Amino acid sequence: MYLKSIELSGFKSFAKKSELSFTSPISAIVGPNGSGKSNIAEAFSFVLGEQSIKSLRGKKGEDLIWNGSTDSPRAGRASVKVIFDNSLKIFPLDYETVTIERVVHRDSVNEYIINGSQVRLRDVVELLASAHIGASGHHIISQGEADRILNASIKERKSMIEDALGLKLYQYKKQESERKLEKTRENIKQVESLRREIAPHLRFLKRQVEKVEKSLEMKKELQEKALEYCKREDQYIKHTEEKFNKEKIPLLVKEKELGKELNIAKQTLEKSKNKDEKITELINLDKNLHAIRGEKDDLFREFGRLDGELASLMRMVKKQEEGAHSDAHKTVTLASVEMLSEQIAAKIRSAKNLNDISPILKILDEVTAFLADFVDNNKNKIDNSLVTDVQKDIDHLKNSKSQIEKSLEAVKKKENDLSRRYEILKTIIEKEKDSNRDAEKDVFRIMAESGDVRSKLERIKAEEETLRVVKEDFKRELTELATLLGPAVLHWSHSVYVQNENELSEPRSAQEERRRAMEKIKIRLEDSGGAGGAETLKEYTEASERDTFLEKELLDLEKSASALSELIRDLDARLSSEFKEGLQKINTQFKQYFALMFGGGNAELTVVAPPKRKKSDVDELMENGESEKTGEAAFAEATAAEEGIEIDVSLPKKKIKGLLMLSGGERALTSIALLFAMSGVNPPPFIILDETDAALDEANSCKYGDMMEDLAKFSQLIVITHNRETMSRAGILYGVTMGLGGSSRLLSVAFDEAVAIAK
Ligand code: ATP
Repeated sequence: MYLKSIELSGFKSFAKKSELSFTSPISAIVGPNGSGKSNIAEAFSFVLGEQSIKSLRGKKGEDLIWNGSTDSPRAGRASVKVIFDNSLKIFPLDYETVTIERVVHRDSVNEYIINGSQVRLRDVVELLASAHIGASGHHIISQGEADRILNASIKERKSMIEDALGLKLYQYKKQESERKLEKTRENIKQVESLRREIAPHLRFLKRQVEKVEKSLEMKKELQEKALEYCKREDQYIKHTEEKFNKEKIPLLVKEKELGKELNIAKQTLEKSKNKDEKITELINLDKNLHAIRGEKDDLFREFGRLDGELASLMRMVKKQEEGAHSDAHKTVTLASVEMLSEQIAAKIRSAKNLNDISPILKILDEVTAFLADFVDNNKNKIDNSLVTDVQKDIDHLKNSKSQIEKSLEAVKKKENDLSRRYEILKTIIEKEKDSNRDAEKDVFRIMAESGDVRSKLERIKAEEETLRVVKEDFKRELTELATLLGPAVLHWSHSVYVQNENELSEPRSAQEERRRAMEKIKIRLEDSGGAGGAETLKEYTEASERDTFLEKELLDLEKSASALSELIRDLDARLSSEFKEGLQKINTQFKQYFALMFGGGNAELTVVAPPKRKKSDVDELMENGESEKTGEAAFAEATAAEEGIEIDVSLPKKKIKGLLMLSGGERALTSIALLFAMSGVNPPPFIILDETDAALDEANSCKYGDMMEDLAKFSQLIVITHNRETMSRAGILYGVTMGLGGSSRLLSVAFDEAVAIAK
């Protein structure tokens, strides 16, 4: 016994928790119409994962939940729990019992629980399929659905038979594999297109990397060359600087010494400059002496002249003094004579006017007196005027003479001074002449030597200037190299360098050669766009790693695709062989049951391919407006249709063939025979039959009961029935009643009670 029990709570009319245990191979559920029996059958469908609410007679999930009544409030959830005995491991689970539970909430959210663990619907479906409990529900025959298999299309029928044969699991596996294969193919396409997409970039990067590698090589070469070049250049500069310093120091010392010597010589010569002054002075002195002597001569001459003049004047004075004392030499002045004459003339004019002689005589007396006075006066008078004038001249001359005498004295003194100075100067000049000659010689020598030193220093300075340019060039070179090669270029300074005379003595052109070689590499480097190498390398590594990864991925995907194809082929083969085998077995049983039910006749399932519609048929369909699809699509659909199962029946003693000709009862009997045959070949753990027997008459009910018992050997049967015969075959009977509150109640009943309840 696999099915242990079912428990409903809040499901449909089962407001309260209700449990049905199935301890007998056949259990019957009885009760009046509308009491909730079918709800129990539906509870099975529900818990086993039925997704169509419609087939559970509802519109939405909520319709499955107890809706409430006057004495019992509506439930928030409906749950159904089915418990299986797994001691025979019908389920591949390591549990003695397997409980499957499904809960639906008012918001239509479903929960699936296997042994207390929440799972997905798929897990439930797969678990059930592993125990031949399929979703197509061939083991749950709902009310009025007994002949469903007869009404089904050939394709649906095939699916139901596959389900009954337990091939669904393979179907699932196949579908799953096909899904996986499709997904894998998609992935392959994606990976291929990804690879295609990155291929040009990868090629580009590869070329870039080649360039970068080439430039790295060039850099290495440049680095080696730079090391040698820098080492040598540094040595050259240091060595040359040292050399210049060595050369310069004695020259500078010499220059300083010469400077000192020159100073001394110059000082000496400075004095010789004084000599010139002295000579000039001497010449001037000479000139002055000459002048002063001329002056002296002039003065002498003037003096002599004055002296002579003075002597003659003196002589003249002596003579005049002698003449002044004799009357013969006495003189009257014209003026005095004129004055006398005037006076006499005036007296005469006055006498003329007079008539009297007396006054005229008197006037004559007066004239005589005048004349007498005149003579007297002139007689006594001594004329010293001449003497006085000469004396004046003499005095003047004497004065001049004494002046000249003074000048002469002064001139003489000056002459004396000058000639004394002249003599002294002459002696000094004579003395200085010798020492000047030496100093001059020194100056010439020093000048010559200084010139030499200076020209040497100039040369060094010029060379130093050249070296400064070399140093600047070197500095520039280093900066340039550092930008190109990074700080590694400075490593040359760390290398221990043993100065090698050979290296130092090599011509500069060798370094120039090295520099040119470096320049060439630099130009090539620049052309190759050397920068950003690390980035490119990284990008290339990443891209090629990605490509390798994708390549491997593709291989894996292709491997898994072929494995999946293989699996699908295997599954197909297995499905087809097991299907054939199973169909045969079903047919054997179907024939037996059919013959048993109808007391003869024949029934058979046959595999049919759908009638392949010809193009002309499709065109006809189109013309008749039977298909809305285009001719091509309809044709494709028709030809692609899968094979299905046809049911051939022939009743005993009747010439009737084919399902369409059967009566309602005959249809029920045929379908029951087929259902039982299907269940018998690969028995599911349980079968639920909801009033499958409704259409049977008494005789057939009995046969139905026999078949049930036959079937119950392999599958537990739960039958919902109003049929007394059926009830009589059940080991357990559950009565379902409906109280006033509209909720179903469950009770275990005895056969007689059951018969009563069922009515
Ligand atoms: P019959 O013998 O006529 O086939 P039955 O015993 O199979 O009848 P069911 O069809 O199982 O009866 O039960 C139908 C009853 O369940 C109805 O009375 C219906 O009102 C009730 N029912 C269905 N869904 C719910 C629900 N969600 N809440 C409450 N009652 C419900």
